[in-house]
Amino acid sequence: MTRRVPLRPAVSALPAYVPGARVPVGAAAYKLSSNENPYPPLASVQAAIIDAASDINRYPDMFATELTEALAHHLTADLSPQVREDGGTVSAEQVVVGNGSVAVLAHILEAVVDAGDEVVYPWRSFEAYPIVVSVAGGTGVPVPLAPHGRLDLQAMAAAVTDRTRVVLVCTPNNPTGAALTQTELLGFLQAVPSDVLVVVDEAYLEFVRSDDPVDGTAALAAHPNVVVLRTFSKAYGLAGLRVGYAVARPRLATGIRSASTPFGVSHVAQRAALASLQAKDELLARVDTIVAERTRLADGLRDQGWELPESQANFVWMELGQRTAERAADAAAAGVIVRPFAGEGLRVSVGEHEATDIFLRVAAGWR
Ligand code: PMP
Repeated sequence: MTRRVPLRPAVSALPAYVPGARVPVGAAAYKLSSNENPYPPLASVQAAIIDAASDINRYPDMFATELTEALAHHLTADLSPQVREDGGTVSAEQVVVGNGSVAVLAHILEAVVDAGDEVVYPWRSFEAYPIVVSVAGGTGVPVPLAPHGRLDLQAMAAAVTDRTRVVLVCTPNNPTGAALTQTELLGFLQAVPSDVLVVVDEAYLEFVRSDDPVDGTAALAAHPNVVVLRTFSKAYGLAGLRVGYAVARPRLATGIRSASTPFGVSHVAQRAALASLQAKDELLARVDTIVAERTRLADGLRDQGWELPESQANFVWMELGQRTAERAADAAAAGVIVRPFAGEGLRVSVGEHEATDIFLRVAAGWR
């Protein structure tokens, strides 16, 4: 009998990835299922991509030097004057880029998690968390959310044991949209031992409108155990090119780089990310429009009598329990593809104005 190659038990236990919804080109449907940016790339970004194409017979810059320098510059400029005065600037050696922030997260875990080490994360949260934790050899410790889709920081701090190596904090949380405040984050960091890595996943940071928004980079000076995770996939509209990054203190950044895939970000992606940073004001103006559309979608649903968590991201969350699959099919039939979480609810990304109109019309029919 032919013997078969065994898979690691942690890997064979994982659910197989299912392909996400793809809307055929030219189909009369809006894709609101992956929290993408509805806007096409800016002309300047497309020009940078075309320009970069002439060099793709060469490997890219392994350390993405220009991009990490530009990121360090922007991250430092975004800090409050007080944080900068206190020495909280960000240098290029603290920035590690990768093939989407999900790959960067996988490398962070590979850099610090040994077999059986515990990784605490909120649940329900980003679907990749349990997968990347298991693949890294860790043991996931999911902590249920508090009411209104919020992270239960007290319960998460209480879940930390001697075997915990990492805590994942997702703010705004995918798929509920609820965000922490910086005061809450800093209180949590006080409660967690300094040898436990705290990854603050800020994939949706640019969509937050709050008096006290989370900025993990401002906590780095006082808390060397923090790693901030960000992405060009959402506000910057480069989901298809896969660029994300971590910001950490230099020793950890070096460790994450050592665990990373060499040449993990293509030359085209590096140039597009740089061009996007140069067009930051224009792209953030688009984010303002998306935030206004989020308000219109959430207010419209609440006016119909739906209860929603307060979303600070580019999506809203509707708890629909057992009716979820049926509701997702209704929405698709009306021309909007949304993301069902079986038995739990729908996550509806904020997209085109007309897509909001269609979804509001469909949801009104469910009341
Ligand atoms: N973190 C969160 C919370 C997300 O929702 C996503 C994307 N859905 C990611 C990280 C990964 O983004 P990317 O790999 O495209 O950078």
